[in-house]
Amino acid sequence: ALLLDGKTAIITGGASPRGIGRAIAQSYADQGARVAILDLDAETASRTATEIGAQHTGIACDVTDRNACEEAVSQVIAAWGWLDILVNNAGITQPLKSLDIAPDHYDAVLDVNLRGTLYMSQAAVPHMTQGGAIVNMSSVSAQRGGGIFGGPHYSAAKAGILGLTKAMAREFAPQGIRINAICPGFIATDITAGKLTDEMKADILRGIPMGRAGTAVDVAGCAVFLGSDLSAYCTGTEIDVNGGSLIH
Ligand code: NAD
Repeated sequence: ALLLDGKTAIITGGASPRGIGRAIAQSYADQGARVAILDLDAETASRTATEIGAQHTGIACDVTDRNACEEAVSQVIAAWGWLDILVNNAGITQPLKSLDIAPDHYDAVLDVNLRGTLYMSQAAVPHMTQGGAIVNMSSVSAQRGGGIFGGPHYSAAKAGILGLTKAMAREFAPQGIRINAICPGFIATDITAGKLTDEMKADILRGIPMGRAGTAVDVAGCAVFLGSDLSAYCTGTEIDVNGGSLIH
């Protein structure tokens, strides 16, 4: 049987062509779920959903805007009737040193990663009346203090996501809503926006026992596990998907 048969899922930041969110959307669809891809641009979100299959949908949603989050969840509920899984995947990063983080940098990185995770969860939880699963995208940067690409504000935002995950997992466990985090290591996507030099890449690869960057599909496998009943007794956990780069 398919692992997510008949489930409905929202995946934020799911429209990046080589991104983790899109790979999760595809894997969820392959396992029988209907997926709503939320991303900044309506057209890109819709096109991505259609590429995955006719039963899926794309919705414009800036996760830093609380009303937009509520509106997007309402649209999904109106169309499908219920919500089983939320994947808080939208995220941005910036390669800055501590002393170079200006107020705008701080706001941008904390808002998309951390505030967005809170706002989307606040919008989704009231609709998870039959239980549900929330999967939050943290990072190895939260666990080891950066050292891959993002600056300290990114590490802080991703560490904040771990705190939010664990506190919300405690709060909503009695209602059958499981909340877990994934900590990817170095995954080959476009989040580094051309700013990753060959030298930086070689440095990162030296620190990975498996000797290769991860793929978006590597992360999606873990998201399928956390969204499905295979992880029925897991809540408040963080799962490392990093090729051994942080064995602890
Ligand atoms: P990506 O840049 O390919 O995709 C991110 C997506 O989020 C984009 O489609 C973007 O439009 C969307 N987005 C940005 N701001 C948004 C907003 N305000 N509202 C809605 N959507 C927004 O990045 P990716 O590498 O696929 O990263 C996905 C997640 O995984 C992020 O949270 C990232 O921090 C995390 N992560 C990535 C890596 C890695 O090495 N790639 C490692 C650890 C964690």
